[in-house]
Order: sequence, then C-alpha cells, then structure tokens
Amino acid sequence: SIPLGFFGGIGSASKNGILVKGGNYLEALNEIDIAVFDKTGTLTEGIFEVTDIKVHNEYSKEDVLKYAAYAENFSNHPIATAVVDAYGDEIRNEEISNYNEIAGHGIEVNYGDSKISVGNKKLMDKNNIEIIESTEIGTIIYVAKDNKFIGSIVISDRIKKDSKETLSNLKQLGISKTVMLTGDNKAIGEKIANKLGIDTAYTDLLPDGKVEKLEDLYKEKQKNKKLAFVGDGINDAPVLARADIGIAMGGLGSDAAIEAADVVLMTDEPSKLVDSIKIAKNTRKIVY
Ligand code: ADP
Ligand code: MG
Repeated sequence: SIPLGFFGGIGSASKNGILVKGGNYLEALNEIDIAVFDKTGTLTEGIFEVTDIKVHNEYSKEDVLKYAAYAENFSNHPIATAVVDAYGDEIRNEEISNYNEIAGHGIEVNYGDSKISVGNKKLMDKNNIEIIESTEIGTIIYVAKDNKFIGSIVISDRIKKDSKETLSNLKQLGISKTVMLTGDNKAIGEKIANKLGIDTAYTDLLPDGKVEKLEDLYKEKQKNKKLAFVGDGINDAPVLARADIGIAMGGLGSDAAIEAADVVLMTDEPSKLVDSIKIAKNTRKIVY
C-alpha cells in the first residue's frame, strides 16, 4: 500500500502544474542518478523560424522555399510549420500526391510530375542525393527535386529561458550525469549542450537510436538509483516508456508522449522537474 503522505505529495505537485501518475514515481524522483533530455520542444521552445535559404544551380530562394512548403504542408512537425509560415502564399494541395513522412528524416511528395524530398542529410543519403553540406549552425533541411539537390534551408529555435538553471540545479540536487538525445545535427546539438552545461550530447539519432542510447546509459547508472527521461514528441514515447521515470511536456507535447509518461509537466517548463524533485524530497520527510 502507498503511505498516505504520498497523496499529499501528489496533490501539492498538481497544484504546481505537475501531474504525477502514482506515489511510486514521487518516491523515484528522490533517487535520480542520470537525467536525460530530448532537445527540440523540451530544452528548446520547439518554435522554429526560417533564418536563411541557400540555393543550388538555377534555382532561386523562392523556388526552394516553395517546393519545401508544398511538401511540408501536410506535416505537423515544428520544422514544417516554420517552412510553411515563411512561404506565406497559398498552397494548392491538389497538386500534391504520394505524401510520405519518414520519422527522423523528413518528407517526400510528388508535386505535379516531380518528386520533392525535404529533410536532413540522412534523407538525402537514403536517396543517394549529392548535396552541398551547409556549414551554418542551426537545424538544416535539404531540398531536392527529382533526386537532385536544389538548396538548403536554415531553421532556428530558441532555448527555453529556464533550461540552463534547470541543468545546474539538477547537479546541486545530486544528479550525477545529464545527457541530451536529439535527432538534430551535431553542430547545433553540441552547441546547445555546451551552452546549457549538459555533460554528454548524442546527436543525429533516429527514434530507435534514442532507446538504444538509453540502454547504454542504464549500464552506467548506479544500481539502486533511477534514470529519468524528459521529452515531448511522438518519437519520444518509446524512450519515455523505457525510462524508470518518463517525464513529458503537457502543453505542446504530443498525446503519445503524455500517455507514455509517468510525470507530466503541464507548463512545458523544464524547471518544473526541479520543483517536482523538491516536492518529492519534502514528501519523503513527511512520510518517514
Ligand atoms: P528531436 O529529436 O530533436 O526532437 P525529431 O526526432 O522530431 O527531433 O526530428 C529529427 C530530425 O529529423 C529533424 O531535426 C529534421 O532534421 C528531420 N525531420 C523530421 N521531420 C521533418 C520534417 N517534417 N521536415 C524536415 N525534416 C524533418
Ligand atoms: Mg522533441
């Protein structure tokens, strides 16, 4: 049976916008050894903006943006929203067929008689499309028409305002290691990890790759302690389920992530993780 004090703890968490799905998770929050974070939408706002367009061959910036927007129009990914917003013009959906979104890669469609591919380097490699790799620091998506590279788009996101303090507060609370897992590229992943003081960043990960990294982290975790993962996306659901404590963003987070999580941070602020650990510590004082 669950000691009565845990109900008080769960109630006080819920008043602070933290949904804890059981007393055992409140207890576990006291024992985190390794805290693992997704990047996009978790440590960053997940609100992207197109900041630059690079063109190749005879194509103009308008062409590259237009093809990308036509392909992205059916996707809910924050990257897709940024591209469609930057284009701004009407998109004639009837010209698009064979829509195919590939998790962790991007999107492919037929636009009239042409095949358009929009996504990261992995998507281009998969199709043997030769690209000129962007050296800009940001989230980069490449655009190809009929398997020929036509340009790239630089997309920027903002770090959430409480991310940095959260990472340092977690260390003060005795968490021995912080990790970031992202499907985004190495340049932007490492830049953000450095800015936030995260111990280790793994980048260019597919959804399965995130679970594999988690398994590796379990091997280095102190035996009697816990591993927590914080994420927001559909792609994060398997990792949330595998972690001792899965923590999801409840505001802009996906339904799949919220469902798979043990703890939900309703305001999407990572600092609520620090608050929930403090509540867990106080609850323990009352219970024992
Ligand atoms: P994260 O792990 O940082 O939350 P995701 O797993 O959602 O990121 O996406 C990983 C990468 O896959 C993105 O950074 C992007 O390169 C590519 N990608 C995913 N969906 C799309 C899309 N709709 N359009 C273009 N690129 C995409
Ligand atoms: Mg995410």
